[in-house]
Amino acid sequence: MRENLSYEQFGVAVRELAQTIADDGYEPDIVLSIARGGVFVAGGLAYALDCKNIHLVNVEFYTGVGTTLEMPVMLAPVPNAIDFTDKKVLIADDVADTGKTLKLVRDFCLDAVAEVRSAVVYEKTQSLVKCEYVWKRTDEWINFPWSVQEPVVRRSGQVLDA
Ligand code: 5GP
Repeated sequence: MRENLSYEQFGVAVRELAQTIADDGYEPDIVLSIARGGVFVAGGLAYALDCKNIHLVNVEFYTGVGTTLEMPVMLAPVPNAIDFTDKKVLIADDVADTGKTLKLVRDFCLDAVAEVRSAVVYEKTQSLVKCEYVWKRTDEWINFPWSVQEPVVRRSGQVLDA
C-alpha cells in the first residue's frame, strides 16, 4: 500500500499545516528547509506564515524506497549556524520517517538558536523525533508529487535553439 499525495492535496496540506502553526502562536524568523522534499513545504509555509527568510540544508539519506545510507549526511555547503543565533527557527520537511534526518538538522540548530520547532506533512510512528506540527500520520511509503515520476529526459529530435 502507498499513500499518494497529489499537488492539489499538497496545496491544502501546506495551508492547513501553516494554520496550525499560526493558531499555536509560533512566529518563526527563519524557515529552514531540508532539501530536496522539504523545499516545497518550506516555500508554502513561508508564504502562508508571511516569513520572508528561508534557509536550506541538503541532507542525503534515502537511496531508494526503504533503502538508506547508514546515517544521513549534510552535504556542503552547510548553513552557517551564526545566521540562526537568537532566531526562532521552523524546520520544514516532507516526512519524518525514521526521524534521523530531522534529528540531525535539529541537533545542528539546538545550540545556536533561540527556539527550534519542526513541521512536516507526514510523520510515521517510528520517528524518533516527534514534530510539533504534523499534517497527517501514516506508516505507508508516501508518493510525493515531485518525486513519484522519473526525471524528464530530452526528447529526440527536439530543436532547442532557433
Ligand atoms: P528519515 O530520516 O526521517 O527516515 O527520512 C527523511 C527523508 O527521507 C524524507 O525527507 C524523504 O526525503 C525520505 N523519505 C522517508 N520516507 C519516505 C517516504 O515514505 N516516501 C518518500 N517519497 N520519501 C521518504
